[in-house]
Amino acid sequence: MKLTIGHLYPELLNLYGDRGNIISMVQRLKWRGMDAQVKEFSLGDKIDFSQLDIILLGGGSDREQLLVCNRLKKIKSDFIAYVEQGGVVLAICGGYQLLGNSYKMGDETVQGLGVVDIHTERGDGRLIGNIVLQSDLFPLPVVGFENHGGRTFIGSHRPFGQVRSGHGNNGRDRQEGVVYKNVIGTYLHGPLLPKNPHVCDYLLQTALDRRYGKVELPPLDDRDELAANRYIVKRFSQE
Ligand code: GLN
Repeated sequence: MKLTIGHLYPELLNLYGDRGNIISMVQRLKWRGMDAQVKEFSLGDKIDFSQLDIILLGGGSDREQLLVCNRLKKIKSDFIAYVEQGGVVLAICGGYQLLGNSYKMGDETVQGLGVVDIHTERGDGRLIGNIVLQSDLFPLPVVGFENHGGRTFIGSHRPFGQVRSGHGNNGRDRQEGVVYKNVIGTYLHGPLLPKNPHVCDYLLQTALDRRYGKVELPPLDDRDELAANRYIVKRFSQE
């Protein structure tokens, strides 16, 4: 069994080692005797979404997001079709903001993919630090690091999690990220998946089931990863 992971615009959307999320997915498949192919797409490349099982959109600076957004207009309808057909997406920070309708930063506005009906506005100062959240997708908490000037408002959409410690979508409503169909949008860099193997396996399981029907994903020895996760939860929940 094999999954194909599409990494969109890594030359621009590449903050804080978001690529580590791909390394984590590939390795956790390999440890189970499964294959993974990673396809990197640059701004000019044509994307055949039917070949992709998981898409990663990483974080980027405001300037890089402006550069990417012109390209997004061209892939918008194919991207939305992929999502509506259950395609798996992990979008981090700048990539998360691009999933929404728009990111307003002063006089300029980045037009997003419109995959989810959410929007972002640049606020005063940046929301920076370690973050712990509780998602209803997993019993274990999710940990990471956030650094964003944008404040995201998800309206009636379902958040990725409730903030236990940190800022989250906008520093006000204690919500973090968004979940829509098989899409997770989140501000958590870190990278997210090596720190949270349960989130990695959720994405792999969803993608495998979509491609092959119900697939058994054997458990791995995650004692070290889970001990690190517990340590971070304890450390930041006390502050
Ligand atoms: N440019 C966006 C912001 O500051 C996203 C930054 C990021 O991806 N870390 O809100």
